[in-house]
Amino acid sequence: MSRDDTDPLADCRDLFVADPTVVAYLDGNSLGRPLKASVQRVETFLREQWGGRLIRGWEEGWLDLPLTVGDELGRVGLGAAPGQVVIGDSTTVLIYKLIRAALDARPGRTEIVIDRDNFPTDRYVVEGIAADRGLTIRWIDVDAAFGVTAELAAAAITENTALAVLSHVAYRSGYLADVEGITTAARAVGALVLWDLCHSAGVIPTELDAWGVDLAVGCTYKYLNGGPGSPAFAYLRESQQSLLRQPIQGWLGSARPFEMGQGYEPAPGVRRMLSGTPPIVGLQPMRDMIALIDSVGIEAVRAKSIALTEFALELSLELLPGAVVASPLDAAQRGSHITLDHPAFESLMPILWRRGVIPDFRRPNGIRLGMSPLSTSFAEVELGIRMIAELLPR
Ligand SMILES: *Cc1c(COP(=O)(O)O)cnc(C)c1O
Repeated sequence: MSRDDTDPLADCRDLFVADPTVVAYLDGNSLGRPLKASVQRVETFLREQWGGRLIRGWEEGWLDLPLTVGDELGRVGLGAAPGQVVIGDSTTVLIYKLIRAALDARPGRTEIVIDRDNFPTDRYVVEGIAADRGLTIRWIDVDAAFGVTAELAAAAITENTALAVLSHVAYRSGYLADVEGITTAARAVGALVLWDLCHSAGVIPTELDAWGVDLAVGCTYKYLNGGPGSPAFAYLRESQQSLLRQPIQGWLGSARPFEMGQGYEPAPGVRRMLSGTPPIVGLQPMRDMIALIDSVGIEAVRAKSIALTEFALELSLELLPGAVVASPLDAAQRGSHITLDHPAFESLMPILWRRGVIPDFRRPNGIRLGMSPLSTSFAEVELGIRMIAELLPR
């Protein structure tokens, strides 16, 4: 019996759109595959909702979708009670809004903490805002094959810190940070932490409420299969909502948008994170993935994610002797992808992609294998790693 034969989630693969020329898709952590149900949903939405209801649709539920889909996501994958998650802009824009809001809530504090290996957009937004505000960035230097440990975070986050911006799963190594431990330590010195959940939402369960998280963002086109450029989500802890004001004061985040009145007053609750007209078409596909995760349970997704990364590591150590593992070996410290370094990997990428084996490449020489548990089979992982082994110069 193969590993796929004994996998309780194996049947889920048939629910995704399949292209016969793709034989091993190992990049679901960059862009998840579409569900067949989403193809149907988008078509129905265009024909019946947009086409049939037209402008009336706004009053018949569209305006609430950023909040209702947010609540579903919060319940199914984030450990968030209703009223704290909203679907909004891109992750980058939500990071900007939340950082600005957090800094305003910590006047007098002079530092923002972030690590050198955080995702570029997080670092760039922090750099821009720090320059604007005359704040100091306290950089955490990390081992690129690991990530921000609780010790590193505790040393950097002090009484001068307004905010730390950290990723739950490191985009390169896959290192899984101790969200609860770091958040608790930061709160003890009065600092806020903004958690970036891009590489964990939909695959690693979180308990945002129970862990005491104040602020989080994440994208929906990775393990939430929302499609290219699908809108991101923000989590704003209920007790923080009235204390935080985001800077892009648009009408749809205001208290009474249709009065068209003078002067901005933020909407109560998490709706205040919105600015302009929400992306109603763009948030349709993720609804199917959220429903699928709900039906199998996020814990089962995580269990298969661990099995897949363990299998990929095992095979890589056996078949790719020249490659260096640049990810944690302990599954408890690892998200749903692994990175392997080898100087020849960059030259293999075009051949792999042509042959329908699709991992991605991260400079300087890392191949990143992302396993999206509901759409990735063990056979696919094996085929991909065997093809890499075959192409590697000896
Ligand atoms: C993918 C990713 C992003 C992407 O931000 P966008 O605004 O959607 O382009 C941000 N942060 C992390 C950690 C990511 O992995």
